[in-house]
Parts: sequence; structure tokens; C-alpha cells
Amino acid sequence: MITVKTENEKETKALAARLAKLLKPGDIVFLNGDLGTGKTTFVKGAAKHFKVDETKVVSPTYVLLNIYDGKYEIYHFDLYRLDNMNQINTIGYEEFFYGEGISFVEWPERLGDAAPSEYLKVTIAHRTEGKRTIKIMARGTRYKNLLEKIKELK
Ligand code: ADP
Ligand code: MG
Repeated sequence: MITVKTENEKETKALAARLAKLLKPGDIVFLNGDLGTGKTTFVKGAAKHFKVDETKVVSPTYVLLNIYDGKYEIYHFDLYRLDNMNQINTIGYEEFFYGEGISFVEWPERLGDAAPSEYLKVTIAHRTEGKRTIKIMARGTRYKNLLEKIKELK
């Protein structure tokens, strides 16, 4: 696990952009943390690296999924309002998780059994106004290797 402290939104976006450099098509990034901690902000920072206009990056609260076209397709899920698994099955999440784009998933805990078994997990916690603690963990070989590379970046 890696722990990074950020002092403002800009630092969180910069961390996301650095991490994004290491992501490949098919990768899945989970974003955990309470409302307002900076999950969407993190996706904005990563999206910028993929040449997606960050003003287009908004939490897809009602549709559950936004797709952005950049260097790769970016699948941005926000499952906060997911109240039954039919909804997620309707989207056909597997096509995205196991597809050619890069997935970012806010509120991944809502996936239950539909969760992939391997992913990078970013957990953001509020410290004080403007300050956050960001923990990065890995499940599976691909992501454990990725985590080692992230450590080298630090
Ligand atoms: P979430 O998607 O987790 O609900 P958002 O990214 O939409 O959260 O909102 C996070 C809010 O917190 C934004 O208004 C952002 O400007 C603010 N913020 C303040 N400090 C930070 C920080 N260090 N990292 C990320 N966001 C921060
Ligand atoms: Mg959000």
C-alpha cells in the first residue's frame, strides 16, 4: 500500500495524472471514499492525461456511467445510486470492465458479486479543509506490479 497526502485539489489531480501514465487499456481503478472527498476530482486529473477535457468529467450520478473519448476510451462509473443489480446488468458493465478502455469506478463497493477480482484501489479520506489522505492498494498481479511502479515514481 502507498499513502500520499495532498494539500489541495491540484495536488490530487497531479497524483492522478502521474498514476494515469502507468495505466493501460483494460485497467480498472476503484475509487473509495465518502461524498466530497475527491473521487471525481481524481478522475479529472487522470482524464487530463488521456487528453480528455476535464470539464467533461462529472460524476455520472443518474446514468451510472459516462464515457469519454481520449487517447483511450475512459469509462467513468459512479454507483452511488445503484440500488439493485439489475441496473448494473442493464449497462452491461462486463463489456466495459473487460473491454479496451480504462475504467474508473466511484462507489465500487456497490458492485457486490459483480466486482472484478483484480483492480487498483484508491481510497481518499478527508483530513481537514483542502487536505486529503490517499491510499493506493492493489489486488492481483497486474496491479501489484503497477503499485511497485507507482512507488518508484514517488
Ligand atoms: P467525490 O467525487 O468524492 O464526491 P468531488 O471530487 O466531486 O468528490 O469533490 C471534491 C471536492 O473537494 C471538490 O470541490 C474539490 O475542489 C475539493 N477538494 C478540496 N481539497 C481537495 C483535495 N486535496 N483533493 C481533492 N479534492 C479536494
Ligand atoms: Mg463523485
